[in-house]
Amino acid sequence: MSEVNQYNNELSNQSFRLAGTDISVGKPVGKVILAGAGPGDPELLTIKALRYLQKADVVITDRLVSEEILTNYMRKDALLLSVGKQCSKEGSTPQSHINDLLVEHAGSGKLVVRLKGGDASIFSNILDELRTLATHQIPYEIIPGITAALGAAAYAAIPLTARGYSTAVRFLTHYKKDDLNESYWKDLAQTADTLVFYMSSDPLDHLVENLLQYGIGADKWLAVIEQATTPLQHVYNCPIHEYLSSKRGSHYVSPTLIIIGKVAALHEPFQWLPDSHSKENYFAPVAVSQAASQVASRTEKQSTSKKYFYADSPKT
Ligand code: SAH
Repeated sequence: MSEVNQYNNELSNQSFRLAGTDISVGKPVGKVILAGAGPGDPELLTIKALRYLQKADVVITDRLVSEEILTNYMRKDALLLSVGKQCSKEGSTPQSHINDLLVEHAGSGKLVVRLKGGDASIFSNILDELRTLATHQIPYEIIPGITAALGAAAYAAIPLTARGYSTAVRFLTHYKKDDLNESYWKDLAQTADTLVFYMSSDPLDHLVENLLQYGIGADKWLAVIEQATTPLQHVYNCPIHEYLSSKRGSHYVSPTLIIIGKVAALHEPFQWLPDSHSKENYFAPVAVSQAASQVASRTEKQSTSKKYFYADSPKT
């Protein structure tokens, strides 16, 4: 047996052993897999997450998870629960409710996959969920996913640490803009590091104004990447000093990622994915798709699922 097969068998045995009945204490013991689903393109799911999805009794999913993953890769008889969150917008499922769902299902012996967009740990509420699981002594695993920064950088052809351009990259958010003080802004404006901002398209004018005020160089570019890695990806790209004159007050389709740095100028010469000019949403907005405590059934999910095809996806 190859090393890989042996490892896979151990993984299968482990998940079945942990999602069942613990004979020593006589009560059902489930397990929670906290997994990243990648940023959009369903083919960016890891094989490990896929294997767990195919076994899971219950899948609890975030909003920024491709419908195709849920439609094609889950067990057909598994329970699908949608617990969308959108920057505290109305309709977002309260975290306490998500925690309760984890305990309810894993506590009754189920194998639960908690699927999060991108990576499971980057700008997510994983810590609340880990605390809940630890408190209830529920076993868990964490499976990484491709975070939006890496997906967007690849699909927009912006190498985040291109030699001669930048030697470091920072993942940030400007969502809670009052938290950031003067020395922080100065540092951001002056650094040679590439800056990647999550959840920051609404306050983008403010973000750019601050960087200009603290002297960001004219050689720095900005890329705004809407719906990265999906067939609806659109990239807006310009030198940061020119942004406000042409784009002040712009609204972007969620989710949107911002990349700032010299490397952002590399999009233009190396772009390989054509821009979509549709303003359609790849991911259903939370206010439309979910009520606070809504639990969507698999049939409901399937009926709303859209099909997109990537022109050059390798066919299996
Ligand atoms: N855990 C996720 C991030 C969740 S925070 C990850 O690792 O990617 C949600 C933010 O991520 C969005 O507001 C947006 O800034 C970014 N994001 C997630 N998916 C994205 C996508 N497909 N395109 C652009 N930005 C995305």
